Amino acid sequence: MARRRRPTSVVTGIGDDSAVLRFEPGQDTLVTTDLSIEGVHFRREWHPPESVGHRCLVRGLSDIAAMGGLPAAAFLSLALPEDLPQSWVNRFLDGLLKLARRYKVQLAGGDIAQSPRQICADIVVIGSVPQDKAILRSGARPGDVVYVTGSLGGSAAVLQNLRKGRRASPRLKTGSPHFYPEPRIATGQWLRTHALASAMIDLSDGLSTDLSHICDESHVRAVIDAELLPVHPAARKQREGLELALHGGEDYELLFTAPSSVSVPNRISGVPVTRIGEIARYDRKKPQVEALIYGSKRPLLSKGWEHFAKGFAWQSEAEKSAHRAPSRN
Ligand SMILES: [Mg+2]
Repeated sequence: MARRRRPTSVVTGIGDDSAVLRFEPGQDTLVTTDLSIEGVHFRREWHPPESVGHRCLVRGLSDIAAMGGLPAAAFLSLALPEDLPQSWVNRFLDGLLKLARRYKVQLAGGDIAQSPRQICADIVVIGSVPQDKAILRSGARPGDVVYVTGSLGGSAAVLQNLRKGRRASPRLKTGSPHFYPEPRIATGQWLRTHALASAMIDLSDGLSTDLSHICDESHVRAVIDAELLPVHPAARKQREGLELALHGGEDYELLFTAPSSVSVPNRISGVPVTRIGEIARYDRKKPQVEALIYGSKRPLLSKGWEHFAKGFAWQSEAEKSAHRAPSRN
């Protein structure tokens, strides 16, 4: 059914990974904006400037990937403390531009202002998809299968080590899921061109939170099987590995749903794809997201990224709140 023409060019506004705008028939424009704040998203003593720049752009690119889009240009606004060495800024830009070149994204503008204390970087990424082809969070239907790309909990596992005072070796930093995560642009586009995914989101806040976003927007519920989760080897080494995979954020993998009738490859554009659960009909008496853990079904609460300021609040609260009704965000 054709969409009713809206008075403005906003086709999909707040509530998805990117906004969808239409200026001309045939092509939709994607816009996403993400903040990176010192002390919240990174720490200068933990993260090399190149990693901060890389991760700043990944946040935007991953949101374009989650729509099945092709990124085109980025705009960067920086608020920098007066005493920040110029070398930090240069290395930050090196990390950001290296990733931008790989994905043929042009840094097309921005702004710089002085900040009283912390570094703050705001990235805007613009991308495109053919008209009406953006993969939204709202398309999941009962009976659909839930899939995830790559592995989960790797970024949180590295962060966990940093919090415990274990510094990552420089060798581990390159290619690390935490310091240099990869946006799944090619996988997202493949899913869009093959029209396989009914709904999609990128895993920035953690599986429990991001799956609840799909459920919210699609008015469905989900049941995942914890034993099927592709837990990252770095997370598997830790006692709380499963919790890191369920709730740890910033993996920047794609979480998507597809009808059970379609055959989804177990590898797309070189990235492994794992079936982790199913979408069910919305039922107000049942938890929005449930997880089968060691044979028993329990509500999976949204315990997304608490970031550095608060630490992993879910670790101590996980068991206590396991039987509470899940939040609806
Ligand atoms: Mg997102």
